[in-house]
Amino acid sequence: MNKLASRNNITCPFCGLVCDDLSTSLINEKLEVTANGCSLSKLAFAQLSSVNASDLRPRVSGKPVGDNELGHAIAEAAGLLRGSAQPLFSGLMTDVSGMRAITSLADRCGAILDHPNSAALTRNLSVLQNSGWITTTFSEVKNRADLIVLVGTDAVTRFPRFFERLVWNKDHLFSEELKREIVYLGDIKNTQPGVAPNGRQPLVIPCNQEKLGEIMGALRCIATGKHIEATEIAGVSIQVLEKLISKLSNARYGVIVWAVADLDFPHAELTIQSLCELVKYLNKTTRTCGLPLGGNDSDLTANQVTTWQIGFSLPVSLANGRPSYDPHHFTTTSLLAQGAVDTLLWVSSYQAQRTPPATKIPSIVLGCAGMQFENEPDVFIPVATPGLDHSGHIFRSDTVVALPLRQLRTNSLPAVAHVIGALQKLL
Ligand code: SF4
Repeated sequence: MNKLASRNNITCPFCGLVCDDLSTSLINEKLEVTANGCSLSKLAFAQLSSVNASDLRPRVSGKPVGDNELGHAIAEAAGLLRGSAQPLFSGLMTDVSGMRAITSLADRCGAILDHPNSAALTRNLSVLQNSGWITTTFSEVKNRADLIVLVGTDAVTRFPRFFERLVWNKDHLFSEELKREIVYLGDIKNTQPGVAPNGRQPLVIPCNQEKLGEIMGALRCIATGKHIEATEIAGVSIQVLEKLISKLSNARYGVIVWAVADLDFPHAELTIQSLCELVKYLNKTTRTCGLPLGGNDSDLTANQVTTWQIGFSLPVSLANGRPSYDPHHFTTTSLLAQGAVDTLLWVSSYQAQRTPPATKIPSIVLGCAGMQFENEPDVFIPVATPGLDHSGHIFRSDTVVALPLRQLRTNSLPAVAHVIGALQKLL
């Protein structure tokens, strides 16, 4: 048995909640979550444990390189980047150190940087850039929220322990038990986790996701005392909406939660903006905050590092020797469709399923061991997973803290930061 066998208070990097209370064991090189894991984390740990020794070897043109020949694969990758007029660095699913190295290499190569979740990131960022917002932290939700309104999301599909960690958790700051009320608004599939431990049922207000913007507009009208002629909006009666505004106005600490990935319809940013303006208005008389959920696939980590290193959010181009931010033209999908890039570097160190999009241009993949491809990349270098194979840091959804990730096992896989650093030395 490995001497690192049993560990407590382990940080999980597999969704934006970044829970830091897992227990794991390592027996015969297999990592297992033994306490506080959700189905997502258990599956991810199990999948990353089921790799063969051959999966640990880099491949060049589909052929495994010899033992101790990582340098050969890195040299091949460097050759592709050297010959590239316009490289694209995408995926970007790594930790803080890996992302710092990637931004440095992008600066060296004049690359465009994008994350596959950047369209969703942009929906939130455009609201923040245009009109600002009042948001809160996980700790504040856990300690103070007495009303939680989930807009267009059940939270748990993407963030399985949301209610366990933030809502029904008895471990909060005050001895008095918080009498929390849950409201779901939208096309919600799973409302079961919103049932309180004492059996109190959540209020569910069903409506089409794409109509949430109309509902938000009506809620703002009601909150600000404007008259509405209609008796219902998007199938929801005005009385129900008035009742919701009354709940928000009477709450001591209301929180409106959304998961931007679930608001995936045309102009969803206007729905988010309307929601954020409602939050601002409610703060005239009580405390209300927004809680945007995100951070899966380490998208917020990539964005935080890019912002502090380069001064702009993703996606950003360094092609002209200075940063250029354009969330509409620099997405991976549009760049590949337009043939605007000639080499792809894809980084995916958390989940083997997060493979690059199909492309005919030369590609370099730094991915999880065991990653399967429809089109084999020119160079594939299996890399370590932060929080399993090496220590590191990752931002959680509320972006107020970067949590430490710990090494749980030893193997020969190099960290993304190591491979990218070695690549840069060759350019
Ligand atoms: S909820 Fe997210 S961070 Fe927490 S254990 Fe599950 S996958 Fe990991």
